[in-house]
Amino acid sequence: RHASPRAIFDEHESAVRTYCRKFPAVFSRALGHRIWDEEGREYIDFLSGAGALNYGHNHPVIKRQVIEYLEQDGITHSMDMHTQAKRDFMQALVDVILKPRKLDYRIQFTGPTGSNAVEGALKIVRKVTGRASVIAFTNGFHGMSLGALAATGTAMKRAGAGLPLAHVTRMPFDGYFGEGRDTLEYVEALLDDPGSGVELPAAFILETVQGEGGVIAASTGWLQRLQALARRKGILLIVDDIQAGCGRTGTFFSFEEAGLSPDVVTLSKSIGGMGLPMALVLVKRELDVQQPGEHSGTFRGNNLAFVAARAALSFWADPLFEKELQLRCALVDERLRGIARQEGAKGCTPRGRGLLRGLTWADPGVAGRVSQAAFQRGLIAETSGAHGHVLKVMPPLTIDVEALQKGLDLLADAIQAAHA
Ligand code: PMP
Repeated sequence: RHASPRAIFDEHESAVRTYCRKFPAVFSRALGHRIWDEEGREYIDFLSGAGALNYGHNHPVIKRQVIEYLEQDGITHSMDMHTQAKRDFMQALVDVILKPRKLDYRIQFTGPTGSNAVEGALKIVRKVTGRASVIAFTNGFHGMSLGALAATGTAMKRAGAGLPLAHVTRMPFDGYFGEGRDTLEYVEALLDDPGSGVELPAAFILETVQGEGGVIAASTGWLQRLQALARRKGILLIVDDIQAGCGRTGTFFSFEEAGLSPDVVTLSKSIGGMGLPMALVLVKRELDVQQPGEHSGTFRGNNLAFVAARAALSFWADPLFEKELQLRCALVDERLRGIARQEGAKGCTPRGRGLLRGLTWADPGVAGRVSQAAFQRGLIAETSGAHGHVLKVMPPLTIDVEALQKGLDLLADAIQAAHA
């Protein structure tokens, strides 16, 4: 028989990691926006696997395809060989996502984590330009392997590396100097000045909405001016869409609203459809300089993930999917603004874009208390930001409106409790 979740938690206390400590329950089942613990308690999931579960848990369409594939003895692992599942996924990505958006990219699969896609992207821009460094931004998060970590801002994440993390120049992200002060003027001035000591980088790497760094959204204008600056200087543009992509901001790519045309895009998390590990780099055709084997990996190409991924992409073939997604984005926006108004003097501000949203308060401790109070009420919502001062609101994109409202009600209730 199962020991009680509490007993297991206590027993493993020294071994368990972040989420286990924050959400002390043993989870056993999940469907759509709902997740149940072993004792049958139901929670609404506003964490969505930190962006890996944009289509919710066990989406019936995706799950069915995966089960059928296994029932037909479909290939699960094939190293890097070309398989039907891989070909079908690539075709779907081109036909359903890239072509309608007039984007022309080569698809480079990488090891199955986002970090590995970032490593792949960093190697590509270095090889293309022959330059060593990249410019990354304050509060950016790009992964935990050494190259991706070097591009990451958060001190806590960097602390474990034990080495100087080289070849990254950090620049201020949009809004870093406060409202009305343009950080790109600063970036441009340093790049223009031969006395600044800032070397010409191979690329800018950024998230259009910084997820882990505290749900900080760059404005459309800032993104467009960054791209223009990159073009003017011959600097490549890498958009890390691992968390903000796959529909999270209301469009498939997070850079669509700004109309960007990044040279390199990294995707992971929800590209795998139902939380199956998968990552890839999209690279403009003329920049596809890597030789076969230059960025290899045993799990470069998980066929189950390809099957799930293709099923998920099929949703995007129906224009209604994006329309309905945007209705949910509008609903969340309205509710978060309402909550912030009600918070009055507590200085509560909504952040982010689409369904990658957050709330932050003048008192940085509030977000953590809200997360705990939400958990007690049956809502899973995580904090983010360098001080854990931002409460993240990331429901599945496919959540029905009623459940979305209920989750937001629980959130409003948890906020009141956190102040009590
Ligand atoms: N880039 C971004 C923007 C991310 O949010 C993450 C994961 N939080 C990563 C890269 C790294 O992905 P992974 O954890 O799969 O290595």
